[in-house]
Amino acid sequence: MWWLILAIICGIVAVTVLVFWRKWAAPWRQIEELVTQIGRGERPPTFLVDGGADAQRVGLALESIFARQQELDRQMAGRESGTQTILGAVQDGLLVVDARRRITLTNRTFEELFGLRGPAAGVPLLETVRHATLDWLIAETLRTGEAMRSELSLADSQTHSERHIEVNAVPIKNALDETTGAVLLFHDITELKRLDQIRSDFVANVSHELRTPLSILRGYVETLLDNPKPSREELARILAIMERHSKRLGLLVEDLLSLAQLESSNATLALSVVRVEELFNNVVRDWREKLAAKNLKVIVDVSPDASTLRADETRLQEVLYNLLENAVKYSREKGQIQLQAGRRGPETVLSVSDDGTGISKEDLPRIFERFYRADKARSRELGGTGLGLAIVKHIAQLHGGRVEAESELGKGTTIRVVLPTHP
Ligand code: ATP
Ligand code: MG
Repeated sequence: MWWLILAIICGIVAVTVLVFWRKWAAPWRQIEELVTQIGRGERPPTFLVDGGADAQRVGLALESIFARQQELDRQMAGRESGTQTILGAVQDGLLVVDARRRITLTNRTFEELFGLRGPAAGVPLLETVRHATLDWLIAETLRTGEAMRSELSLADSQTHSERHIEVNAVPIKNALDETTGAVLLFHDITELKRLDQIRSDFVANVSHELRTPLSILRGYVETLLDNPKPSREELARILAIMERHSKRLGLLVEDLLSLAQLESSNATLALSVVRVEELFNNVVRDWREKLAAKNLKVIVDVSPDASTLRADETRLQEVLYNLLENAVKYSREKGQIQLQAGRRGPETVLSVSDDGTGISKEDLPRIFERFYRADKARSRELGGTGLGLAIVKHIAQLHGGRVEAESELGKGTTIRVVLPTHP
């Protein structure tokens, strides 16, 4: 009998413990599991928790926390990709560092400029980019808390050239006005520098070209002032020299004006149908005396499919004058000059060839530059300023075309002007 009572009591206790365990203890295990999964960013298979209504409420609350967290993750990912898109679109390089000079943010332009393989957030700057000027600039910005500006030279490994970069560094400050980092913008000014150099070279060249004839003219004026009554022959000689140099000055100014006009944004073309053979013959006629003086033979060869083209006739005439002038200048006595026109696909090629002195391989790529002369002394002596081919190139480009040169020293030269037949 006692045994039976004891067994019933034990049974009641066991059932009570089981009920309590299921209602109070078991849900906590499940909840712990749920929280761990949510913490890991995993989606639990279910949010249903065994046990009483309280435990189920906790399960539902966890489900809404999970949903909210997912929504936040989505928003953050969206913002992050938006920021990356904006940073990627910024043409300038961008670098953000903290007060200990660790990289916080970079964009693609910066990574390309410094040859980094990808974003290097969190890495000390010194471990990824070593540049004395940049280090100094960041150190000074962080130390003084003031915006700074500097210029860097970077070697471009692809083109083996030097890039010039302007860097602006601005400090980042917190609410207490302490400097907590710096933002740096890198702007490539290589092209600006190049243009600046071209401009100053141009001014130097023009001054140099003007100075020579001017000083010769002044010299002779002084001679005449010192001796106002020279002999007839002496006077004739002096006046002839003065005339030659004042003509040279005039030509130089004309060429400069022509170039300036061609380079200006409002340079226009008066297009019309040009008969190529007629154009060639007219130019040759104008040069007859000079050709005869050197006993030069001229051959005009126009292929039937290149008999006409649409172009600015006056400017084309200027092109041929310049090319023929060079051919005559650099031809030897009894040489031969050829003026040719032919079709090359949709383009018309006008060329002037001679069998004269030719141009060396080193000089050839540069002859279309302003003021470039292969043989300075000889060209100047022949009255050249080195602007003729620059003018030719500009006129070709204005027509949407280009120029080509082929030459061999001692054998001769061919200059081609390739123009669209129907611009
Ligand atoms: P400009 O034409 O202004 O009077 P230039 O003839 O010296 O002066 P360009 O016509 O621009 O200048 O020619 C540039 C240089 O190219 C010349 O100085 C010369 O060295 C070289 N060159 C041009 N054409 C020929 C040619 N047909 N044969 C040999 N060298 C040439
Ligand atoms: Mg010339």
